[in-house]
Amino acid sequence: MLNLLQDNRGLMRAMLLDTPGGPLRETILPIPWPAADEVLIRVRACGVCRTDLHIVDGDLAPHLWPVIPGHEIVGEVVHVGEWAHQFSVGERVGVPWLGSACGHCRYCASHRENLCDQPAFTGYDRHGGYAQYAVARANYCLRLPDGYDDLHLAPMLCAGLIGYRAWKMAGDAKRLGLYGFGAAAHLLVQLAVAQGQQVYAFTRPGDERSQAFARELGASWAGPAGEAPAELDAAILFAPAGELVPIALRAVAKGGVVVCAGIHMSDIPAFPYALLWGERRLCSVANLTREDGRSFMCLLARHRIKSRPRAFPLAQANQALAALRSGDIDGAAVLVP
Ligand SMILES: [Zn+2]
Ligand SMILES: [Zn+2]
Repeated sequence: MLNLLQDNRGLMRAMLLDTPGGPLRETILPIPWPAADEVLIRVRACGVCRTDLHIVDGDLAPHLWPVIPGHEIVGEVVHVGEWAHQFSVGERVGVPWLGSACGHCRYCASHRENLCDQPAFTGYDRHGGYAQYAVARANYCLRLPDGYDDLHLAPMLCAGLIGYRAWKMAGDAKRLGLYGFGAAAHLLVQLAVAQGQQVYAFTRPGDERSQAFARELGASWAGPAGEAPAELDAAILFAPAGELVPIALRAVAKGGVVVCAGIHMSDIPAFPYALLWGERRLCSVANLTREDGRSFMCLLARHRIKSRPRAFPLAQANQALAALRSGDIDGAAVLVP
C-alpha cells in the first residue's frame, strides 16, 4: 500500500489521509527506509500548514493516496543513504514543501525550480511529517539555524518560507499590507518591521484577537479588510479568499503590487479595470526554491524571529487542523510525535 519497506526495521505511528474530506487516521506503519539519495529523519516537530488543510479538505486534487501529510518537518537524521553525504547522523534538518524537482525542465534550467513541471511535494506527492519518521531527498533538506528550538522552527519551513518569497515579490514597499494574519503573517510582520517597513494587518471583521496579536508583533495598524487607513505600496494575501483581491487592489497605490501567497483561493470576483490601471500588478507566488530556503535560514540566524507555536500531540492532528480551519490558532499549530 505505502512505498515503505516491510523489512523489520521497526514500526512508527503516523497520521494517514485515506480520502479527501478526511479525517486523518492514526495508524502503525513500518519505518520507511531511505533510498541512496535520501535521509531517514526522526521527526521532532511538524508544522500544520493551511495547504495541509486544502489537501485534507480536497480543495487540491489528490496526488498520492493514502498520504501522510506534513511539510514543515524538523527532525534528526538517523540514517543516510549511500549517496546522501550532505548530512550526517545526528544532524538536525528541515524538510520543506519542495520535496524534489526534476532538474532538467525549462523552469529548473532557469533557476525556477519552484515552477518545475514534475515536482514532488512533501506530504502531497511524497509522505510527509505527520509521523514519527520520514524520508526526504537529502538535496532538498535544509540546514537549520542554531538558537531556535524544534517547535519554534517548524512553522518557518513553510509559513516562514512562503511568506519570505511573497515578501521578496512585494518589493521595496514602505507601507505593506498583509491580508489574513495567521502563521505566515505573524512571522513576516517581524521581518518587515525589522527592515523598516510599516505593516498594515487586515483580518476578518471583528477578529480583535488577531488584530491585537498583529499590533503586539509590530504592525503599525490592524483592522478589517476594506478599511485601509493609508495607501499601501504592496499587499500580500495570505487568506484564501478571492474577494480580497479587488479590495487589496483598491488599497494599493499606483505601481503597487498585490501578491497572492496561497496555493488555493476561492474565485476572484469581477472587478473594474480601473483597479488594475496605473501599473498595479497582481501575481501569485508558488512554492519555493532551495535558494529561498537557504537565504531565509540565513535571515533567521541574523534576526530573532519569534514564532508562536501551539503544540499538539501527533494523535491530535485532526484537532489541530480543525483549530486552524476555525481560525482558533494565533501563530502556528505544530505536531509533536
Ligand atoms: Zn523541473
Ligand atoms: Zn505549507
